[in-house]
Amino acid sequence: MQIFMKNKTTWCFSAFSGKLYECLTDDLHLLNEGQIPLKDKPRNGCKKCYGRGYIGKNQTNLVYDVCLCLRKQINFDIINSNNVKK
Ligand SMILES: [Zn+2]
Repeated sequence: MQIFMKNKTTWCFSAFSGKLYECLTDDLHLLNEGQIPLKDKPRNGCKKCYGRGYIGKNQTNLVYDVCLCLRKQINFDIINSNNVKK
């Protein structure tokens, strides 16, 4: 008998691809620079980024400029705990 368990996921934003995606919470320690874990999925009602999470692309380092609404959702707890492990 198989027990179905939904794996917990956390929303992340990739500053290199400009994409929002779900990452398995167990794999969050594998995130590297440019992959930003979020507390929650950004709301789609943002007038600046229309829910994309970024407002443009930095032509110097080719990294997406994160919108303020996404910036507010950044999960620093995960980032900090990742930094401790390194
Ligand atoms: Zn926004």
